[in-house]
Amino acid sequence: LQARLISQEKMHALGQLAAGMAHELRNPLTAIKTFIDMLPKKLDDERFRSELLHYVPEEMERMNRILEDLLDYSRSKPLEIEETDLKMLVDSVLGLFAKRAVNEQVEMHIEVPQGIKVCLDRRRLKQVLINLMINALEAMSTSSVKRLHIKARESADGVELTVSDTGEGMSAEQLPHLFEPFFTTKTQGIGLGLYVSDKIMREHGGRIDVSSTKGEGTTFTLFFQ
Ligand code: ADP
Ligand code: MG
Repeated sequence: LQARLISQEKMHALGQLAAGMAHELRNPLTAIKTFIDMLPKKLDDERFRSELLHYVPEEMERMNRILEDLLDYSRSKPLEIEETDLKMLVDSVLGLFAKRAVNEQVEMHIEVPQGIKVCLDRRRLKQVLINLMINALEAMSTSSVKRLHIKARESADGVELTVSDTGEGMSAEQLPHLFEPFFTTKTQGIGLGLYVSDKIMREHGGRIDVSSTKGEGTTFTLFFQ
């Protein structure tokens, strides 16, 4: 029974994902089709040509990103669990954002003690941290105070890693939907980052939590077993 319940839950999630994906891919496809349909008549129209050259690659790029994000998760390669130094993992991700943080004048506070070991799939966990970092930076784009705080601690219950920002925060209505596929409040958003991150944490037997105050900021916490 347990197994059947789990598989029903999975089927439901899959159905939700497929429906979301169909919806997300249809919009760019429709846009591209419209351009192609008009092409024979408008071939000599300079403005049409420049719009086509702008929008078609953009829409195709969007479709590509949706597929990449999904494949990344669904490739369903088995986890490659390795004992990992948490500080080294965090540093490797921070390296990817160092330049952007300086450009956007984001203050970084890192409190990850040396010597915390966790067993995890490094590539997947990096993906989770990247997703959280991108969201934090995006949430702070219009904040007057831009502070990103990454903190780790080890307790009897396991290891906790928090990523806090002083960004726009979220409303109570937003919170229950965060981990649903394709939930986004951004015009250019896709809404797969947190969905995939939650899946990855659960595959590891861990979890991801969030607390947020509108207008003040957001904290995501990763729990490792
Ligand atoms: P996307 O970034 O493509 O919108 P995500 O799954 O990464 O998709 O995030 C889903 C939504 O959760 C975002 O659109 C935003 O509304 C909210 N969100 C996620 N992280 C933060 C954050 N750090 N601060 C404020 N809102 C956030
Ligand atoms: Mg995101």
